[in-house]
Amino acid sequence: KGSSFEELRDARRALPIYPARQKIIAEIRKFPSAIVIGETGSGKTTQIPQYLLEAGVNSGATIAVTQPRRVAAISVSQRVAQEKNTNIGGLVGYCVRFEDVTSPATKLKFMTDGMLLREAILDPTLTRYSIIILDEAHERTINTDVLFGVVKAAQRRRLKTGQKLLKIIVMSATMDVDHFSEYFNKAPVLYLEGRQYPIQVMHTKEPQSDYLFASLVTFFQIHKEAPAGEDVLIFLTGQEEIESGVKIINDMARNLKDVPELMVIPLYAALPSQTQIKAFAKTPPSCRKVVVATNIAETSITIPGIKFVIDSGMVKAKLYNPHSGLDLLKVVTASKAQVLQRTGRAGRESPGVCYRLFTESEFQSMSTNTVPEIQRCNLASVVLQLMALGISDVLTFDFMDKPAPESINSALEELVMLGALERQSNSDMLKLTPLGKQMAAFPLDPRFAKVILLAKEYECLEEILSIISVLSVDSVLVTLSSKRKECQQSHQKFMSSDGDHITLLNIYRAYKSVNGNKSWCFDNFINARNMHTAQEVRKQLREICERNGMTFSSCGRDSTPIRRCLAAGFFLNAAELSKDGDFITMANRTKVSIHPSSSLFQCKPACVVYTELVKTTKCYMRTLSVVDPDWLYEAAPTYFKRKKAAVIS
Ligand code: ADP
Ligand code: MG
Repeated sequence: KGSSFEELRDARRALPIYPARQKIIAEIRKFPSAIVIGETGSGKTTQIPQYLLEAGVNSGATIAVTQPRRVAAISVSQRVAQEKNTNIGGLVGYCVRFEDVTSPATKLKFMTDGMLLREAILDPTLTRYSIIILDEAHERTINTDVLFGVVKAAQRRRLKTGQKLLKIIVMSATMDVDHFSEYFNKAPVLYLEGRQYPIQVMHTKEPQSDYLFASLVTFFQIHKEAPAGEDVLIFLTGQEEIESGVKIINDMARNLKDVPELMVIPLYAALPSQTQIKAFAKTPPSCRKVVVATNIAETSITIPGIKFVIDSGMVKAKLYNPHSGLDLLKVVTASKAQVLQRTGRAGRESPGVCYRLFTESEFQSMSTNTVPEIQRCNLASVVLQLMALGISDVLTFDFMDKPAPESINSALEELVMLGALERQSNSDMLKLTPLGKQMAAFPLDPRFAKVILLAKEYECLEEILSIISVLSVDSVLVTLSSKRKECQQSHQKFMSSDGDHITLLNIYRAYKSVNGNKSWCFDNFINARNMHTAQEVRKQLREICERNGMTFSSCGRDSTPIRRCLAAGFFLNAAELSKDGDFITMANRTKVSIHPSSSLFQCKPACVVYTELVKTTKCYMRTLSVVDPDWLYEAAPTYFKRKKAAVIS
């Protein structure tokens, strides 16, 4: 099925990068590091690794290519395997959190930046690789930023100790690269020609209050007027919004006459890769494709056939929330750089049109670039990993852009409170504790890692693993707008008055009791795909526990040990009921509410801990459990003593 090998070979040769391949190979051979800049779609990700392999620049060793997103790692590796005419997991493989599809034969390994960072903990010189390609560097995710420093140190160390040279290639879709080149010892910059046809850009006259609605109206105007084969790409912000957009488009399109047949394709990180592949399919001649995507389609995934782009101008971003210490996903205005990338998607194959659902002056007021994640997210996880890498003085780590010292210090403080770090006797330096070392083994936020390790003592490890696995995937509850009542009624039977963590446990248990039966999921409005993923995640977390020599225990039907355990790990995320009926966080006395989707909505427990906070019109705790305040004091007596004192003074 799909394209023949010859067709794929011809497609490879038709890419803008193809004429430059000899030059690219020669330059990369010559220098220890190089920066490659090229428009999205020019062929950087899929071609450069193959060129280097074909020319033997890797000297027989594996080439690692990192991606900030798991979807991109998977879909790109599948494409490259196809082009190489091999099965995925052989010569070409991928490795993402909770999924490793590689073998000893793998020479082109596409992986998330997070996975390479974990590998560096076990092997700081990354010995098995001869070339490391840090792709999508313009995205500036925390992990990529940390990798810059880790990989640079590995290169230096290998040079010093006379080991095989490590080549570093940084690839980016945007031009602001002086920074990169400077950081990597003045590495040469290779500019690739892209293909760009003129694009007509339209702004709205007035600011839009509802960008989802505006995007649908704009889409149907295009759909009624433009001929078949001219495809549309809509940029929205997240799964729920995209799914409801897709549904409305499908419903409305059914009643239209004299328009091309429509293929509506959602594209976001949580979708399984088979579904994502649909976005790449060639549109049949009588048909129109409309892809409704997150910013994933900005640069990391190239979709052919796009003539029209509709840009909401919004993006879901991770932001550090100083009130909770957790990162918050929030819909915010995109940066100019992002908007320009989105616009570019319309002109890859022919002249195109971009409809911006914001005014010209709104565009002018957008910030030029996106702030690197490392300057706006919780650093506890990264700091723990750096410590596990043996980098004990995180404040002087060679970051390309340094995070604020206060954020590093608050991450250090958090890790001390969690017991992952402690002061070395007779010095001010912090060091990893045995507990911290165990925590670093889990690909999870340190607080969740701590809960797993505590679960051993509370004798509820099986239950905690189930809960954290379900929390690690996207929502398992399906709510259809057309059957809202029915969905809610069906979900009611899982709901626990002890809170959402126990609700999730109930769902997991029910799912297991029917052996993951798909029609049971369908009947109960449970997302079978996400449940299946949760089961896979659980397997992997269980393996890590086994490797840590942990004993598996279950607390049966009593939810108390589970909630005690959550309280002990998440005491930094406790909130208590105030007189006016709202909740106040115990860490810094800010107001939070219970999210309407919570099983505790409209309940008034005196004290709760939450593991997820969302911000819309208010700050909501979305996943929370009822706890006894005494459990919190028991878990962290010094912390609560200090907090109390602070409140009084
Ligand atoms: P870049 O990394 O420079 O943005 P890529 O190497 O990802 O470019 O893509 C190069 C070209 O390969 C794209 O323009 C597209 O035509 C094609 N391509 C990439 N991935 C796929 C895929 N999964 N299916 C079909 N075509 C693809
Ligand atoms: Mg790419």
